[in-house]
Amino acid sequence: MNRIKIIDLLKSTDFDKAVIVKGWIRNKRFSKNVAFIALNDGSTINNVQIVINNPEDELISKCTVGASLSVEGKWVQSQGSKQAGEVAADKVEILGLADPDAYPLQPKKHSLEFLREIAHLRFRTNTFGAIFRVRHAMAFAIHKFFNDKGFVYINTPLITASDAEGAGAMFKVTTLDIDNPPRNEEGKVDYKQDFFGRDTKLTVSGQLEGELAATALSEIYTFGPTFRAEVSNTTRHLAEFWMIEPEMAFYDINDNMDLAEEMLKYLIKYALDNCASDLEFLNNRLIEEEKTKPVNERSGMTLIEKLNFVISNPFARINYTEAIDILQNSNHNKKKKFKYPIDKWGIDLQSEHERYLVEHHFKSPVIVTGYPKEIKAFYMKLNDDNKTVKAMDVLFPQIGEIIGGSEREADYNKLVTRMREMGVPEKQMSWYLDTRRFGSVPHSGYGLGFERLILFVTGMSNIRDVIPFPRTPGNAEF
Ligand code: ATP
Ligand code: MN
Repeated sequence: MNRIKIIDLLKSTDFDKAVIVKGWIRNKRFSKNVAFIALNDGSTINNVQIVINNPEDELISKCTVGASLSVEGKWVQSQGSKQAGEVAADKVEILGLADPDAYPLQPKKHSLEFLREIAHLRFRTNTFGAIFRVRHAMAFAIHKFFNDKGFVYINTPLITASDAEGAGAMFKVTTLDIDNPPRNEEGKVDYKQDFFGRDTKLTVSGQLEGELAATALSEIYTFGPTFRAEVSNTTRHLAEFWMIEPEMAFYDINDNMDLAEEMLKYLIKYALDNCASDLEFLNNRLIEEEKTKPVNERSGMTLIEKLNFVISNPFARINYTEAIDILQNSNHNKKKKFKYPIDKWGIDLQSEHERYLVEHHFKSPVIVTGYPKEIKAFYMKLNDDNKTVKAMDVLFPQIGEIIGGSEREADYNKLVTRMREMGVPEKQMSWYLDTRRFGSVPHSGYGLGFERLILFVTGMSNIRDVIPFPRTPGNAEF
């Protein structure tokens, strides 16, 4: 007889049939002559109830929270109203004990901070089980979305010699002895002797290589890890995070915005359709959490209402100049409630400004385009005003920027001019410039931060809680 997963068993109405289930004890209750055990195998947020009649004392003492069991028994209709069925156990085998004095997880609410310190065990909680099942579903849905549209999945390198992207500080990759590196005649570290014969880093983005593929395969996407050594200890930044970067030939900035909006709505709808019990759990979790906040900081909508709202309303689309007008004239700005006051055109928008636009002004996701060229990357297409570029940031409630993208500068001369202005080494980037030298086409793309998407879909508020093993300044345990 094969093991049946708990998710399938709980759906079964095939009562009085013999079954084998395996999993970890989440909870236990003993009364006269009978033991009730809540068993979970991670296939679903729901536990299955195991009923053991006349259990031996030794078995009871070993069935502690966290221990793993294999149970043979019969799937029977339940007396209680809470579940349809339960397993009437015939044979209970303990696979692994969990010393109750040492096991840190008990059937009670643990704080997220505490669980971060035991990230190696937090998968075993309801909250993290739900989060990582949702994260999986979103990864799958991303591949499905692009595959159904005929996009080609491209793997771009994690180790790169170009540091031109300018998206953030980079981690060095080297096999040189850092205590005693070889030096050249000028006394500088001699990277010619390093593994790759040059100075290499971990990538901050796969975009530039993605453009090479898109200008032959038309529509591609990447989905892989990226690394940023920025020492920003926020609830939205990781040093190692996953990014989805589609890049499309023949797309202008409007096509780019349409794709981003369609993709986000598809992903959120996929979660609603396929992760119902996990989202219901996370929804209730958030309702409880909101109750602990001051009334004025509570969100007016539940998680599920928020997700439904986003998929059923168009995103607002404005340009940077309009955004600055709105922010500058807002009461919030006049009352000096922004940490970074808005005093002039040209400044970069901070997360507090992005969230103001989304949460207070438009009350919907917002796509901002036409940013000043000075605050954006060299590869973004220049507008006719010579001042702004065809950039687009998609802004979400609670999160701020979830996507950053642009139409790319397809004109060789204009691109080279921007590179010179911004000090991007032309020679080092000749492979990139070749796309504009040979058969250049209008093209666009964007980067979606995977963990920011998961933050939104799960309603969690700290990015450390939506990646299994967060990497942040000072933290690389597990
Ligand atoms: P931010 O301004 O929020 O720091 P960014 O402008 O540096 O982001 P981009 O270079 O545009 O970000 O990267 C594309 C997307 O990757 C962002 O929209 C965001 O969703 C995500 N992202 C960027 N940096 C991080 C990070 N350190 N941790 C997690 N996600 C990130
Ligand atoms: Mn950005």
